[in-house]
Amino acid sequence: MNTSNSYRAAGIPILVAAIMVVSACATSPTGRSQLKLVSDSQMAEMGAQAFAQMRQQQTVSRDARINSYVRCVTDAITRTLDSPYKWQVEVFQDDSANAFALPGGHIGVHTGLLAVAQDQHQLAAVIGHEIAHVMAEHSAAQVSNQLATQLGVQALAGMSGVSPEIIGMGANLLLVMPYGRRDESEADAIGLQYMAEAGFDPRAAVALWHNMAAQSGGGRSAEFLSTHPAPATRIRDLEQLMPQALPAFQQAQARGVRPACR
Ligand SMILES: [Zn+2]
Repeated sequence: MNTSNSYRAAGIPILVAAIMVVSACATSPTGRSQLKLVSDSQMAEMGAQAFAQMRQQQTVSRDARINSYVRCVTDAITRTLDSPYKWQVEVFQDDSANAFALPGGHIGVHTGLLAVAQDQHQLAAVIGHEIAHVMAEHSAAQVSNQLATQLGVQALAGMSGVSPEIIGMGANLLLVMPYGRRDESEADAIGLQYMAEAGFDPRAAVALWHNMAAQSGGGRSAEFLSTHPAPATRIRDLEQLMPQALPAFQQAQARGVRPACR
């Protein structure tokens, strides 16, 4: 970690104590430094528990065609990642246009998303974005901040191994905490690069957000939108990132990386 970085969100007392007791920060793929008081394995355990809860509470889709389509897009992206996780995806029977990914490599896609993400490229834009949240350890930063506030840094740092209560608290936090705007912008940027490197056309990310905006204007609001920045802002930002993403897509195509998920 670089101790010259400051953690505005964490507050000074937490910052000082954290530096004293643990290696307390992580650097995201874009170079942003974040508070990190929980280990990767603890985050993965929280993610697994949260995912198990989702599976219990929600209806898992058994539609073979939809499952293989979603898995095809997910696998195309995850196989390009330098990641310790064994990524898995589950499709949930839910009309809201939503998706999520949890630490440990658990991805959830709602069937309602498939009405908005109209082809493999648009679906890859959403899945790439969600995977980016995990790879950038946004949840680790959020859970660290939240647990430090609730329990105190000393209690957190003192825990060796895995306390079931803390894992349970973390799992619940993963299910309810929305990401901040800065996390969303970063996930957009990283996700765009992921989809492009996996051979999906990054221009589809812009089309997707047009679809999302149209859907939310039509009465039923897309849940995915409620915790995310305004579509116009993110479309403009995505277009600015296109000069980097397009060459990555073209290079993938040239290498013969051309996913054909349907
Ligand atoms: Zn997001």
